[in-house]
Amino acid sequence: MPELPEVETVRRGLAPVMEGARFTRVELNRPDLRLPLPKDFVKRLEGETVTGLGRRAKYLLADLSSGDVLMMHLGMSGSFRVAQEKHQPMHELAEEQTPGAYYHERSPARAHDHVVFHMSSGARITFNDPRRFGLMLLVPRRELNEHRLMKEVGPEPLGNEFDAAMLARACAHKKTSLKAALSDQKVVAGLGNIYVCEALHRALLSPRRAAATLATRSGKPTPRAEKLVTAIKDVLHDAIKAGGSSLRDHRRTDGELGDFQHNFRVYDREGKPCPTRGCRGTIRRVVQAGRSTFFCPVCQR
Ligand SMILES: [Zn+2]
Repeated sequence: MPELPEVETVRRGLAPVMEGARFTRVELNRPDLRLPLPKDFVKRLEGETVTGLGRRAKYLLADLSSGDVLMMHLGMSGSFRVAQEKHQPMHELAEEQTPGAYYHERSPARAHDHVVFHMSSGARITFNDPRRFGLMLLVPRRELNEHRLMKEVGPEPLGNEFDAAMLARACAHKKTSLKAALSDQKVVAGLGNIYVCEALHRALLSPRRAAATLATRSGKPTPRAEKLVTAIKDVLHDAIKAGGSSLRDHRRTDGELGDFQHNFRVYDREGKPCPTRGCRGTIRRVVQAGRSTFFCPVCQR
């Protein structure tokens, strides 16, 4: 499942070829992804200009000149390929690129190309999704915040309003572990298994610790909450930076693995030595709520 840094990397890869460009033609190769595509999908896109490409949690949000927002989610296995349209040279895009494909491998099988956007920028943008958990919806901008998929989404971890006080408030009365709390999209948006494990390791906090210990009895943030917020922001910034650099690396354009995985400190590193300076622990894997958690039982408390 792509997490926030991967979606942000995709956004940064698509923005130069989508923002300010018009949908000249839209091809649909099937009527649905995880949900049915809107009935008038093609009609509501063709001829419209993308006025901005944003992101909220793991959703890409393309604002259209019509007042609609094209909401896109990568699901488990979705990816976009950007190619230059034939007979229409584009100066910056020399070959096909797959923005954001930097940890999970992406399928090159054309049978899973479900939606193709032909843009006035000269880009052909293809959405490929073998497992079809992805999603594309059109929602009027004024209804977006009240949309059922949006209104439950918690704070953006890289936003200014996300701080220790906010995290402590969200966790104060939780009966769950820190791992479960951070994986809860209502507590903080966009984190998944990888970055929850990585952030907890950077903050030296055990994934099994009670989430409520981020707050004092009166609900104030403890120093742990401060450390954890800093760790979350740092790991996301680092991952986005690594993803961004992979966009410029043409060897990595078709589902090959990118850079940030080499920076994982605990994720997928069971049995390896803990990278915390001075720690002699070994990374362990446990299962929490059906998902693997990687952590160091020595320095994460
Ligand atoms: Zn350690």
